[in-house]
Amino acid sequence: MKSQLPCPDCQTSISFDLNMLLSGTSFSCPCCNLRFNLAPCSKPQLTKAVEGFAELQHLNQQANAAASNQAMGG
Ligand SMILES: [Zn+2]
Repeated sequence: MKSQLPCPDCQTSISFDLNMLLSGTSFSCPCCNLRFNLAPCSKPQLTKAVEGFAELQHLNQQANAAASNQAMGG
């Protein structure tokens, strides 16, 4: 899952893969080369947020499927 985050130093948006970040990969800002990675203490919180997001996407897909079923049923 690709995500973007504003650099805490220069505000450039840094694109990173959330799953890679969760697995411990560090990323760097393309503008100022600031490196960031996930602090071990914030990992449970972020994992929870990612799970919530995945669930939201799943619900959205279900809603879309239901809508297209209705459209074809006429
Ligand atoms: Zn930066």
